[in-house]
Amino acid sequence: MAEFALILNAGSSSLKFFICKRLLGQPWELESRGQIDGIGTAPHLKAKDASGSSIADIDLPASVQDGSNAIEALAGWLRENYGGSSVVAVGHRVVHGGPHFPTPVVITPEVMDNLRRLIPLAPLHQPYNLAAIEAVAERIPGIPQVACFDTSFHRGQSAVAELVPLPAHIRQAGVQRYGFHGLSYEYIASVLPEIAPSIAPGRVIVAHLGSGASLCALRNGKSVDSTLGFTALDGLCMGTRPGSLDPGVVLYLFQQLGLSASEVEAILYKKSGLLGISGVSNDMRDLLPSDAPAARIAVDYFVYQCAKHIGALAATLGGIDALVFTAGIGENSPEIRRRICQASAWLGIQFDAAANESRQALISTPGSPVSAWVIPTNEEIMIARHTGRLLGLAGNL
Ligand code: AMP
Repeated sequence: MAEFALILNAGSSSLKFFICKRLLGQPWELESRGQIDGIGTAPHLKAKDASGSSIADIDLPASVQDGSNAIEALAGWLRENYGGSSVVAVGHRVVHGGPHFPTPVVITPEVMDNLRRLIPLAPLHQPYNLAAIEAVAERIPGIPQVACFDTSFHRGQSAVAELVPLPAHIRQAGVQRYGFHGLSYEYIASVLPEIAPSIAPGRVIVAHLGSGASLCALRNGKSVDSTLGFTALDGLCMGTRPGSLDPGVVLYLFQQLGLSASEVEAILYKKSGLLGISGVSNDMRDLLPSDAPAARIAVDYFVYQCAKHIGALAATLGGIDALVFTAGIGENSPEIRRRICQASAWLGIQFDAAANESRQALISTPGSPVSAWVIPTNEEIMIARHTGRLLGLAGNL
């Protein structure tokens, strides 16, 4: 009989899933992966098998209004397709581990209490991550669940890299730079020795450019610094988040415009960044072909901030050996990669336009002093690895 492990990455309107399977005595293998999109609007489930062939593409009932309904819908689909099989573990992406969880952890009630306290630090993600854990516990009581944090990979940075320069009594309450997208960076660091062995031990900046966007400076595969800090608002311009912002602007919103805390939170998390600048979309696919001046400025600002922060992280590393692009924009937009590489040519990147257009992994010339790469990320496989290791599941996930 087959055993299954389920990996979940729950967001506000989507639930990504990754199913691993093992037969008795056999190693774990990827069985299928997919995603429920449009939760609360037009819910839809898509899934592919391990070879990438579509195995599901179905509209779900409009009653799939929240994360709990989405878990229910996924459970129904799993029963239809894998009925009679046992789920032995569930691994989750949880965005914030705070000061107490520098590594992945098996979920207990105390762990959940701790993670709930971090909701204000990641309001766009943490509530949905935790709701998925609760929904699974309700449906499969006693199932071992593991939380894997986006912050963990960054622990071990220097004291100055983690410092938020505010008075001690505020810092002692846990106000520090945490960094995010850690599962993505950890995955990239784990595959560099295989894909690009010459740069793996060196100084690498990874650009995770998706709807959330950040950079991570790696030295020998370890995080030295990153552009996201205490919350996932800092650094690069993102789909709906502004990135680095003079804190005086936030004071102005409160004091001069008289906005409430929840109004300011909505502006910072949901209405700014590419959407705020362009006024039309948070999606790079809409903005790139647009001739509207505000859309052009949004893309220009995105590229400008990426190049500026690449320079800053290059300084923290004392120069770089490579730049790696990943995530939705980084993996799929040759234009954004080209513009960022061209703006970073001063670092020694000799850009290869033809390689960039033809979806090759190496997008700099063979003799380029600093190489540039495109490497697809895989946060779910990272969660699977941690879940398997932590639960001692033989064969690992
Ligand atoms: P992620 O958060 O990593 O799933 O990335 C999602 C984002 O990637 C979307 O919001 C789009 O802005 C962007 N994206 C996906 N495909 C493309 C593409 N072909 N060109 C430009 N941007 C893209």
